[in-house]
Amino acid sequence: MSRIAQNLQAVISTIVASEHEAGRAPQSVRLLAVSKTFGADAVQEAVAAGQRAFGENYVQEGVDKIRALAAATPVPDPALEWHFIGPIQSNKTRPIAEHFDWVHTVEREKIALRLSEQRPAGLAPLNICLQVNISGEASKSGAAPEDVAALAQAVAGLPNLRLRGLMAIPEPEEDVAKQRAAFRRVRALYEALRAQGFALDTLSMGMSGDMRAAVLEGATIVRVGSAIFGARSYAAQ
Ligand SMILES: *Cc1c(COP(=O)(O)O)cnc(C)c1O
Repeated sequence: MSRIAQNLQAVISTIVASEHEAGRAPQSVRLLAVSKTFGADAVQEAVAAGQRAFGENYVQEGVDKIRALAAATPVPDPALEWHFIGPIQSNKTRPIAEHFDWVHTVEREKIALRLSEQRPAGLAPLNICLQVNISGEASKSGAAPEDVAALAQAVAGLPNLRLRGLMAIPEPEEDVAKQRAAFRRVRALYEALRAQGFALDTLSMGMSGDMRAAVLEGATIVRVGSAIFGARSYAAQ
């Protein structure tokens, strides 16, 4: 078995064990394999091991990989699903709208408007998570929690987007109790939006270092990179 296949199996075991520990239904958490900085060959290995959903942070790198995988044989069944999880500049929305299935990092209405306008007519609506800044001053990314309801309202009204939920990247913490406390705040915000009538089904939270805590606090997608593909070799992580 390849190293990537072994790592995938270990990550899936952690997810399954955490679902069980939390008393959650099996397969209530989906694994997004974060392939940024790794080549199409690494993605191919993960595909061969059964993985179908991949996350990318950089537009051009992601689009190149999507194209490379689309040209690869055998054609994976079910088809691959591509999630954009990096910061979005407004002049880079078009390739995201044209090539990806999901975007986890919408934090401004202007970006959402552009993604909706630029989503090609023949494609399904683009699935959207709103990124929330749950760690305050420590993070520059994400909408402030008090602004999320207005942003959700705006996104829910756009024709070519489908609002699915929230995404967060809390400050890295070694301590599981602190990890859980941050994820619990995201979950509370998510439940508040649902109580307001937003039909959300996705909480994108948890990475290699804190996926167990995220699953215990209700994550439905964990975004895992280094635990699957290994350490990344360049600084823009
Ligand atoms: C890189 C990245 C991940 C994966 O991080 P690991 O610690 O390698 O698992 C998850 N989410 C986002 C937004 C990332 O940029």
